Parts: sequence; structure tokens; C-alpha cells
Amino acid sequence: MNLILMGLPGAGKGTQAERIIDAYAIPHISTGDMFREAMKNETALGLEAKSFMDKGALVPDSVTNGIVKERLAEPDTKKGFLLDGFPRTIDQAEALDAMLKDLDKKVDAVINIDVDPTILVDRLSGRFICRDCGATYHKVFNPTKVEGTCDRCGGHNFYQRDDDKPETVKNRLSVNIEQGAPILRFYEEQGLVHTIDGNREIDDVFKDVQSIIDAE
Ligand code: ADP
Ligand code: AMP
Repeated sequence: MNLILMGLPGAGKGTQAERIIDAYAIPHISTGDMFREAMKNETALGLEAKSFMDKGALVPDSVTNGIVKERLAEPDTKKGFLLDGFPRTIDQAEALDAMLKDLDKKVDAVINIDVDPTILVDRLSGRFICRDCGATYHKVFNPTKVEGTCDRCGGHNFYQRDDDKPETVKNRLSVNIEQGAPILRFYEEQGLVHTIDGNREIDDVFKDVQSIIDAE
């Protein structure tokens, strides 16, 4: 099962991805996570990505396509994959088609989480993430069961993303609103898009995700 998760920043892609990978045992390929990991390790890729991410801009296609191409060639993608945050431009969507063709694979479904953009600043400003396992929470909408302890791994180290500051969020949203529509059309023309209402409780959104995957 080769899936793409789409939606604006804060729509709930990472949150749903955690549930999908637990239920369906496919790797989660998030370009944002890959860039953050490279930034943490201060690699050349991380230093290059940082200048774009700090502004809420997209990292250049040539760089992003390169890391996805390498990742998709890993053996764990044999049973499928879940792309999150990629493709974000038409150039990336076309590059992905070419990569998959070379690997004799194809996209099976695009799950588009649709949300009212006006709620996204609140979602992003309250987001916090477990440093140990990457689980995503929200101060108000999705807190940990026990304060200060990750539900998923029991860790106690959390962080907030630098690019979740309101000044950066505004630019990220406008960049993604502008770039997202053509990509949705690109996949709609291929009959691959399933849009779900992401303005509901996390578990209800996941039920819709499961019915889409189970019907594939
Ligand atoms: P994305 O990966 O699309 O940027 P996240 O999954 O990180 O989005 O979610 C953004 C924030 O919103 C997180 O703090 C998360 O806990 C919260 N969140 C995710 N889904 C929902 C939902 N359905 N209702 C309320 N809050 C949500
Ligand atoms: P995300 O974690 O998906 O919200 O992405 C965080 C940031 O990483 C974005 O604002 C971009 O700067 C960068 N990024 C992630 N995915 C891509 C992509 N597919 N193309 C370009 N930049 C990306």
C-alpha cells in the first residue's frame, strides 16, 4: 500500500501517520522530519534546509527530491510507504512519478485531510512533540494522559517546533495553500484523491482513514 497524506500544516498528518504506521506497519516518510533530523545532526543537508525552514519557505525541489529518492530505495518500502509532506510542488509530484516508475511502484491512494484554515494557528501554536519517539500532542486538543509523560514511549522530553511560531506559521500557511491546490488537481485527475473532514476528533478522522485504506 503506497499512500500519500496531504493537508495544510496542522491538518493532522503526523497525528494520523502515527496511527497508520501502528495499524498497517508501513514506514512513515516525512520530509519535514527528515529535514529536522538533519538539522539536529548539523549535516550539510540540515544547514541548507534550516535557512528555508526558519522562514517558513519550501526547501528547493532538487534537494527534497534527492532525499525522497534515496529513502524510497530503502528495502523497508517493499511492503508500502506513507509519504507525509511530500510532494508539495508539481515538480516534486512529477519527480515522484519518475522515481516510482523506476522502482516499478505506483501511488495507490492520496488521503487529503481537509480543515478550516482559521483553526490552524491554534493547532500549531499548541503543538508539542516527544523528543524520544516523535509522538505529537497538543496542549489543549490532545494532551498526554499523564502530564509530562509521553503516552507512546513513557519519555519525558518534549519540544516545540521553531517554525510553529505565529510569524513563521502565517508564511507556511500561505505557501502551502498556494502550492497545495495544483497537486490535489494533479492526483484528482488520476482518480486517486480521498478527502476527509479533519475538523473532527482525532479518532473519528482515523476511522475515515481506515475505511479508505481498507477499501484499497
Ligand atoms: P501536521 O502533521 O499536518 O502538520 P499534526 O498532526 O502535527 O499536523 O497536528 C497539528 C496539531 O494539531 C498537533 O498539536 C496535534 O496534536 C493537533 N491535532 C491533530 N489532529 C487534530 C484534531 N483532529 N483535532 C484537534 N487537534 C488535532
Ligand atoms: P512539515 O514538517 O511537513 O510541516 O515541514 C516543515 C518544513 O520543512 C516546511 O515548512 C519546509 O520548509 C520543509 N519541507 C518539508 N517537506 C518539504 C517538501 N516536500 N518540499 C519542500 N520543503 C519541505
